[in-house]
Amino acid sequence: MSSSAEILSQAFTLGYTYTRSTGPIVGQFLTSLRARKMVGIKASDGKVLMPPVEFDPVSADALSEFVDVADSGVVKTWCWVKQPRKAHPSDKPFAWAMIQLDGADTPMLHWVDAGDEAAMSTGMRVKVRWAEETKGLMSDINGFVPEAVALLGELKPAASDEQITGMEAPIYLTYNFTAGKATARYLQSMKKGKLVGQRCPNCRNVYIPPRGSCAACGVPTEEEVTLGNKATVESFTIVYIPIPGNPIKPPYVIANLVLDGANLSFLHLLSECKNEDVRIGMRVEALWKPEAEWGYAMENIQYFKPIDEPDVPVDQIGKLIDEGR
Ligand SMILES: [Zn+2]
Repeated sequence: MSSSAEILSQAFTLGYTYTRSTGPIVGQFLTSLRARKMVGIKASDGKVLMPPVEFDPVSADALSEFVDVADSGVVKTWCWVKQPRKAHPSDKPFAWAMIQLDGADTPMLHWVDAGDEAAMSTGMRVKVRWAEETKGLMSDINGFVPEAVALLGELKPAASDEQITGMEAPIYLTYNFTAGKATARYLQSMKKGKLVGQRCPNCRNVYIPPRGSCAACGVPTEEEVTLGNKATVESFTIVYIPIPGNPIKPPYVIANLVLDGANLSFLHLLSECKNEDVRIGMRVEALWKPEAEWGYAMENIQYFKPIDEPDVPVDQIGKLIDEGR
């Protein structure tokens, strides 16, 4: 390797945009919340569980008997949050509390807007502060407040009375990604419009993007290899589900591609062909974006497109090794 690589680092968010199916019990609970009503469920021993659960915690029997409970109750235990975090339900100090609603035999977790820690006590009475607009989510309860607090504000009627069967439950993880030496050098080459991999000194496999070592031999890889724009489709998938934030409209093809001279595939888009014509062994070529748009990213290549060359037999894809002799 020549000069030491500049460290490349950037913020990164990993997201899973789940939609969760609620099942009939949680679905009924959320449907009731949207109508600003609290329902628990009767357990095998006659106790009312809140929030309702699908199965009896002792006998494991399926439960189905809903019971109306009050929207006020007693704080059984609590803790004060002095410095709320971004994901918390309030940006002011508040209490997490286990609240046993009148008519229920088990307490449920929610938050209390008491204004001050001194206003909180075990055994205090609290009531629901309903959200102005309800959507069939736990946040339809905009916290609990001490029972004496007068609640103002207009409550809009629920927008729908359809039974709730699913809820959006996305998960996001935001962190800082630091490229590391090998990836940083690779990205710097990408910025110059070059595909540069690394060769293992032992098995002579060429990796792109390089990781700085050979996963098979466990040795550092330092020899750099500049590769061309042509590649072979090793495998592919047709994506039919839209990905939030992705400007490409489905259906489109994502393929595992092995560049000529490389031995391991990477993922990229395939375009300028009918999705149904894509096949393993197909020959393709990188289409680079205009140079002015190049950054430290694989996206400098807009996509790969088919070229008029014979297919590569499946058992030969990525198998060519330069013995260096
Ligand atoms: Zn190796």
